[in-house]
Amino acid sequence: LRNELIQSEKMASIGQVASWITHQIRNYLGRILMNAAILHPQTIEGGVYKAHQDMLVAINEMDRMVTDLLDYSRTLKLHFAPLNLNASLASLLEPIYKEISEKITVEHNFAPDLPQVYADVFKLEQALNNVLKNAVEAMVNGGKLSVSTAVGPKEGFITVEIQDTGEGIASEDIQSVLRPFFTTKQKGTGLGMAMASRIVEAHGGEVQLKSQVGVGTSVIFILPISRRKNRNE
Ligand code: ADP
Ligand code: MG
Repeated sequence: LRNELIQSEKMASIGQVASWITHQIRNYLGRILMNAAILHPQTIEGGVYKAHQDMLVAINEMDRMVTDLLDYSRTLKLHFAPLNLNASLASLLEPIYKEISEKITVEHNFAPDLPQVYADVFKLEQALNNVLKNAVEAMVNGGKLSVSTAVGPKEGFITVEIQDTGEGIASEDIQSVLRPFFTTKQKGTGLGMAMASRIVEAHGGEVQLKSQVGVGTSVIFILPISRRKNRNE
């Protein structure tokens, strides 16, 4: 128990340092970005323009990474309210419809009798969005995104399933997907699924993964309808 306490204190202080550093970096990035925008070259000829564009892209990517890290290093505080997940999912799908290629089709199957869940709307939508983004990113050559909700599988719980027919996850990687910083993407932070599973667990729920290389992936959230205590509280 003593070792566990030391370990958790250590993690808390690492978290504080990480959050302080990322906070500072974000401020500097903001300044760099502002000045880079002012120094926009007037001519689109030659290497200067290209260098400037590259710089802006790099700064924006770095800002996104640092923002994700800052978000992940913060302790999760949930503000519970009744939430209609069917409506949430429908509104999360809207921007996705606009940005995906014609090669991706979207299908949804929402349980009409889905009860409202007691949840943090902002956080749970963030978790769902992280999963939806991965699904789309896994289907570079097209495919089908299926989103469904259901009552169950046990009394007092509901299920959300986000399924894609993308590249799938290698069986040796399945265990790692929910861990922070695991990524197979060139510009990934590896924090999307770690954050999603932390959010779901803080709600007293669980995340299940099913995947097969070349066939697709299914991410399942099982969430309690009413608020319950969990080990992170
Ligand atoms: P990131 O998207 O930044 O890589 P995530 O935590 O969101 O980080 O995902 C971690 C890794 O899990 C991804 O890099 C990918 O290898 C794998 N993964 C997650 N979702 C899917 C999916 N739907 N299909 C295939 N691989 C996935
Ligand atoms: Mg991701």
